[in-house]
Amino acid sequence: MSEQAIVIVNHGNFENDFLEKIVSRIHQEYRLPVTTEEIHIDLSEYYDPTRRQYDGNRLLKGLDSKSSSPHIKKIGLFRVDLGIPILTYIFGQAPLNGKTGIASLYRLRNEQYGMEKDEDLLLDRFKKVITHELGHLFGLLHCHVPNCVMISSTYVEDLDQKGHNLCSKCRTEIVQDYSQETENLRKLSNNFNI
Ligand SMILES: [Zn+2]
Ligand SMILES: [Zn+2]
Repeated sequence: MSEQAIVIVNHGNFENDFLEKIVSRIHQEYRLPVTTEEIHIDLSEYYDPTRRQYDGNRLLKGLDSKSSSPHIKKIGLFRVDLGIPILTYIFGQAPLNGKTGIASLYRLRNEQYGMEKDEDLLLDRFKKVITHELGHLFGLLHCHVPNCVMISSTYVEDLDQKGHNLCSKCRTEIVQDYSQETENLRKLSNNFNI
């Protein structure tokens, strides 16, 4: 049972009720058990002083190699500024069909752009980023269907414009790829056929 869970790794001291809202959103979208876990990672080894940012690629590998509860997908939630060589910053990243992804709240905060703090908007944006990165882990590419959460987002405005959910095309693709793998995903497949 637990082997088929999505594990959310709390690496930002996120509060329980904040995490619970994320857990329930992810569960609603992927219809799999979702558990949370805290892992200690020394972030200093991923810090790049020249960019004053944390290296997303290396952090992803670091998190991937950390042992955690049995899972099919794992996503680490952070508060630090993440970058990769080809991009100034990232909201998160996840390899296609991989097992581990990362997402950070840092660039999602209104304060980052000189605007007033908005906790509800922040949670909304974070949920979309996490759902999106998990989509990549489940094999989804960027989507062009209006409102789909798999649309690529460069700016927070892009995030605000798109919806929270996978479009029916993306859902079908997940079902086709994974329906053979686990009993839970067979249930997922059935749900989607209704
Ligand atoms: Zn993406
Ligand atoms: Zn889509």
